Amino acid sequence: MRYFIVFGPPGAGKGTQSYLIAERFNFLHISTGEMLRAQIKLGSEVGKEAKELIDKGKFVSDNTILKMVREHLTTNYKRTKAFVFDGFPRTLNQAAEFDKILLEMEAEAKVVVISLEVDDALVVERIKKRGEIEGRRDDAYESVVKTRIKTYHNKTEPLIEYYKRKGVYYPIAGEGSVEEVFESISKLIDRLDRDE
Ligand code: AMP
Repeated sequence: MRYFIVFGPPGAGKGTQSYLIAERFNFLHISTGEMLRAQIKLGSEVGKEAKELIDKGKFVSDNTILKMVREHLTTNYKRTKAFVFDGFPRTLNQAAEFDKILLEMEAEAKVVVISLEVDDALVVERIKKRGEIEGRRDDAYESVVKTRIKTYHNKTEPLIEYYKRKGVYYPIAGEGSVEEVFESISKLIDRLDRDE
């Protein structure tokens, strides 16, 4: 099984691009942020925990995230030939635990990290626009957006080295239009397919 991780700062276009990848290549899309927003709507215990943290721009606990991901993988494993992760893993601990989950599940797991490289200034602009269109509370306040970007640099960016060392890190210029970025990603996936 292949596991594509669409990686990048908040507002880099992970959601948009991972949907497009899933649609074109017929892979299964997993967004931990969307799963959490669904739990918040349901008013579940997980949702209550998540709401407070998300509204402040903080991360939800690794345990909660890993439990959701594990459940989703085991439920859907037979339904697809590849998963596309959007917004996971976001900490080194999540990445290490994710590797363990994959090892438990199969010997042949293949991870590919597609990293959308976007400058901080553009990220703030894009999030502002998304806030107006989608009405996400965590996009609405500049202070929350800034916290998320800081958290990205502190906690998520170290994953770049982690995946580079594994030789599965593929940077993509993320500052073009949706179509341009998707074109680069599609070419990468096609190339990886050919090289297999
Ligand atoms: P997203 O939709 O990916 O931007 O996620 C929205 C928010 O959900 C994030 O700012 C975090 O508060 C939380 N979240 C989503 N995925 C994770 C994760 N893998 N680890 C921790 N928190 C997460």
